[in-house]
Amino acid sequence: MDFALNEEQRLFCEAVEGTIDRISPVDRAQQLDNAKTFDHQLHAALGELGIMGLGIPEDEGGAGGSAVEQVLALEILGRKATSLAVFTVVQYMATKLLRHYGSAAQKAERLAPLCRGEIKPAFALTEAAGGTDVLASITTKGERVGDGWRLNGTKMWISGAALADVITVIARTGEHRSRGMTMFAVPRGTKGLGVRELDTFAIFGLDTCEVVFDEVSLPAEAVLGEVDQGFMQVLSTLNSERLNAAAVATGIGNGALRAATEYARERQAFGRPIGQFQALQHRLVNAGVDLEAAWLLTLRAADDDAAGRPFDVSSSMAKLATAKAGLAAADVGMEVMGGAGVDVALPMQRYYRDIRLYIFAPLTNDMITNYLGENWLDLPRSF
Ligand SMILES: Cc1cc2nc3c(=O)[nH]c(=O)nc-3n(C[C@H](O)[C@H](O)[C@H](O)COP(=O)(O)OP(=O)(O)OC[C@H]3O[C@@H](n4cnc5c(N)ncnc54)[C@H](O)[C@@H]3O)c2cc1C
Repeated sequence: MDFALNEEQRLFCEAVEGTIDRISPVDRAQQLDNAKTFDHQLHAALGELGIMGLGIPEDEGGAGGSAVEQVLALEILGRKATSLAVFTVVQYMATKLLRHYGSAAQKAERLAPLCRGEIKPAFALTEAAGGTDVLASITTKGERVGDGWRLNGTKMWISGAALADVITVIARTGEHRSRGMTMFAVPRGTKGLGVRELDTFAIFGLDTCEVVFDEVSLPAEAVLGEVDQGFMQVLSTLNSERLNAAAVATGIGNGALRAATEYARERQAFGRPIGQFQALQHRLVNAGVDLEAAWLLTLRAADDDAAGRPFDVSSSMAKLATAKAGLAAADVGMEVMGGAGVDVALPMQRYYRDIRLYIFAPLTNDMITNYLGENWLDLPRSF
């Protein structure tokens, strides 16, 4: 059993880290976040490096690689460019759905440009009535009109919808609770598509939006995958989304831990660095050990996926453990930095805000725990 990265993976991580440090060093990353601006330059550079095409085979327009490379890249992004990390989780979901369920024409049109970072996706499942009991909350409706479709409804909390060239949306198209939903690809600029940016307290570098479909007319070719099977098709990609979220949560936690440790080495009190005080050392070490343990779960789940083994339980464990460890590390980071923790010129306050996303997204920690109770411990379903 080898827990170390191989030479190729080490070089890969160096390339990702080097690109981010060159284009968006700490100060620039923070300035963009404060200005609530997406880092287009870094997105383009990562597209050139192949990061946006990870998980898609090269002969299909992607950059190859497996879930392992995806989590390695996402952990680094989480540490350094949080919002772009969140975007990239959506990116991997969108490219996976398109690769598995897109028609030849849809793939020819969009898969390679997405993988090169030339166009951007958004994925719209959640509605205002609730993301956890998602099947009950979806009221966005797709109706057949002649050969095509008409969409009406509103999606909520959609990442990157204002930037997206194409939004994949799930709408109700049949009576059956789960087998009555269809995925549609809606291009930017479609008549009746309205995108409104929401004011949130986190993930400043990526818009979060309400997306309205008002009598949107779509051709039959806008259907992604099979009519009425959209939710089942999405379900098959949710483990990957969970796993990728775990990698970002680890990265955010590691970013906070590293920044706090560096600060503790420099900052002086009572004639010594504050990092010499045992109280602080213990908090930093405990946060780091929890992050390491959570990261090992993440790598195990990625390895399960890459090897073709089931990874629903391992990815759920990874998501739960990393969200908790990331939150704890950001909390310790804030404590260690004292007043400097709230300085918006520094990234600590960003880690502290942004980690919150992964407590409830893509699925809340409570619901992941319910899932593990049922599917890992074989207890009766709790909801
Ligand atoms: C910044 C941001 C970006 C997002 N991006 C996207 C996106 O790109 N696409 C998209 O589709 N969605 C997106 N979401 C939505 C996100 O996936 C949901 O917020 C998430 O699924 C939780 O749903 P909810 O907020 O409606 O919480 P609710 O479902 O209302 O849950 C509220 C609380 O009730 C608890 N709860 C509910 N049911 C149970 C139960 N059975 N047992 C125990 N506890 C329970 C939950 O754990 C939680 O604590 C985003 C959200 C945000 C804030």
